[in-house]
Amino acid sequence: HAKQCGRSGFSYFTRNMSERAEQRLAMEHALRRGIRNGELFLVYQPKFRLPAGTLIGTEALVRWRQPDGTVMMPEQFIPLAEETGLITQIDTWVMLEACRQVRLWEDENKSPVPVSVNVSLARLDMERLPQSVSAALQTTGIPASMLEIEFTESQMFAQQDQARTLLAKLKALGVGLAVDDFGTGYSSLNYLAHYEFDTIKIDRAFVSNLPSNPKHKAIVQAIIGIAHALGYGLIAEGVETLEEANVLLDFGCRDMQGYYFSHPLPAETCATLMDGRPLLVDFAAGSPCSDA
Ligand code: C2E
Ligand code: MG
Ligand code: MG
Ligand code: MG
Repeated sequence: HAKQCGRSGFSYFTRNMSERAEQRLAMEHALRRGIRNGELFLVYQPKFRLPAGTLIGTEALVRWRQPDGTVMMPEQFIPLAEETGLITQIDTWVMLEACRQVRLWEDENKSPVPVSVNVSLARLDMERLPQSVSAALQTTGIPASMLEIEFTESQMFAQQDQARTLLAKLKALGVGLAVDDFGTGYSSLNYLAHYEFDTIKIDRAFVSNLPSNPKHKAIVQAIIGIAHALGYGLIAEGVETLEEANVLLDFGCRDMQGYYFSHPLPAETCATLMDGRPLLVDFAAGSPCSDA
């Protein structure tokens, strides 16, 4: 009986495996073709400074529109892109496209704000990243101060020395450097001691349900304290409610991003926010910030 079970289990397993391998391969081909055929596009999620709600930046987030119209989210193809190395092409394209967009906003007489791009370090390439950054800046002619790069901390730990050299090169180019999803890696503090970042981005995980979660409150306060002590900029991601925004503001974190303020937007929609007028965030009377 055991033998039978094992055998059928094995064939089921292998069929599943080869199906998955086939699917993966098909998707890799589709993605390779998609990159070549211009199927990637960017949306921009605004970042605001409270309490006024001034637009202070945007984050470029990649999407993949397949020929049948299906739009794939990064979580559905970035991991595969990282495994296959296609991520280098994607990140290079995103970098150039985001800089082009800033240039376009400038040319349209908008008041553009810096753009952030996410860079994967799964395929850490010491030469390519600084090269694609300076190429993007040169091609578009935008100042380096208009570009920020967001790194996910978990990916840097493996190659500390290389990562340090890489960050120094990028910093020398004049672009901003941010730690994305801060607090989720297992060596967050070690991180701050070893690398030179400009900004810490508090991960969404600590922001959600902030008002009712004492542990998250304590952690967020500690992160804010560290950022202030080290002279780093600070922004919270994933703010979904007014209550979360109020707690953050009360704790001294003024820069925020999240669905409460805005979902990621097409470039044209995002441009309508660039008229220099602050978003009117309606902080209810009696909220922590209203008497500040
Ligand atoms: P991330 O950099 O931490 O980006 C934030 C993600 O959270 C975005 O999802 C955004 O749409 C979503 N988000 C923003 N505000 C809220 C909120 O209030 N609530 C909730 N529940 N979610 C919110 P998205 O666009 O699906 O991107 C997911 C991740 O994919 C990004 O996380 C980033 O790590 C990666 N990614 C996106 N674009 C690129 C890219 O061009 N290159 C690379 N290497 N990675 C990218
Ligand atoms: Mg990010
Ligand atoms: Mg993030
Ligand atoms: Mg995140």
